[in-house]
Amino acid sequence: MTDIPRRKTVTSWIGSVPMGSDHPVVVQSMTNTDTADAKATAVQVAQLARAGSEIVRITVNNKEAAKAVPEILERITDMGYPVPLVGDFHFNGHILLKEFPQTAEALAKYRINPGNVGAGKNHDTNFLTMIEVAKDFDKPVRIGVNWGSLDQQLLTKLMDENAKLSEPLDAREVMIEAMLQSALLSAELAEEHGLGHDKIVISAKVSNARDLWDVYRRLSARCDYPLHLGLTEAGMGMKGAVSSAAGLTPLLAEGIGDTIRVSLTPDPGAPREREVEIAQEILSALDLRKFAPTVTACPGCGRTTSTLFQEMARDIQAYLKAQMPVWKEQYPGVENLKVAVMGCVVNGPGESKHADIGISLPGTGEDPKAPVYKDGKFLKTLQGSSIVEDFNTLLDDYVKTRYGKLELT
Ligand code: SF4
Repeated sequence: MTDIPRRKTVTSWIGSVPMGSDHPVVVQSMTNTDTADAKATAVQVAQLARAGSEIVRITVNNKEAAKAVPEILERITDMGYPVPLVGDFHFNGHILLKEFPQTAEALAKYRINPGNVGAGKNHDTNFLTMIEVAKDFDKPVRIGVNWGSLDQQLLTKLMDENAKLSEPLDAREVMIEAMLQSALLSAELAEEHGLGHDKIVISAKVSNARDLWDVYRRLSARCDYPLHLGLTEAGMGMKGAVSSAAGLTPLLAEGIGDTIRVSLTPDPGAPREREVEIAQEILSALDLRKFAPTVTACPGCGRTTSTLFQEMARDIQAYLKAQMPVWKEQYPGVENLKVAVMGCVVNGPGESKHADIGISLPGTGEDPKAPVYKDGKFLKTLQGSSIVEDFNTLLDDYVKTRYGKLELT
């Protein structure tokens, strides 16, 4: 799919999902339901999984939430979406994982934030308690450092050391170094206590794209653990989508990043799955992965006053996406299909020839005819009031012929 060389890492298995090196970059997401409500959480996990989330994280913040985890796993399995569940632990993870062994077993990975495991001597004790559970249940962990909850003891120590230098670094540099050290020293400690090298995934999240580049470029140079990429708070709606693309793209293009999450604040009423769609779009735009066929449409200009091609492009994209759950079983490889829907014949035929199948609608004042190209060659001209329906029929035929499995008699 891609000629972008991936950074070499160990492979970590998150349940049935491999992560790292040449394995596909994994899309993951997180629920926002109360985990203690097993039914509501299971429904949202299933929705995220159906949208394409290959791993789903749930917060495990108290005993009620911990108690609900095995039931959530059972429910999503019954619903047909047995996606690996990751437990997000803060402050009391060492207590919950010990007290609820069935939860420790049901989870496919534990996310541990070294900045939130306790202070002083409790820090290492609590952290290592969770590592012991991970070892006992043969589970991987994500050591997930966060800009907003950085290990204050470590940060203070590095700030003090920096202040004594003849030419001190600026505070941002010390902060980045503290994030890296927090993640890497924690990983070292976990390995010293017997957790496998391939059982560790690292993240170090910040909320600004340029900071993210600096953090992850340095992190990738200093370890070969799989890296979980994402901004910690991408923001709402379009801002969140654009910030995430800006933050993730340069790193992914350098081969850095083995799993991504888009931490979108949903607009009120917007589906939670939007974060999965954006993550997929980022990977698709980079040709790292394909999840659904691509529809290329021109932006339109003064040569066409009609919005027909825009509506057609939108409807075809929606149609193709809706078909995918069935098509990916019936028509293997259909996610690589490229369709062009163009506004007029200026760029239409050229773009159509680059697609698998494409149509150029008539521009203003042009003959009401729409040439269709298939596999780079002229196929036929559509005309009349049923151009859209006729093109959809051609598209369906193309998918069946090109991607249909051969029936052996
Ligand atoms: S293909 Fe035609 S309508 Fe579309 S942008 Fe180009 S000139 Fe304008």
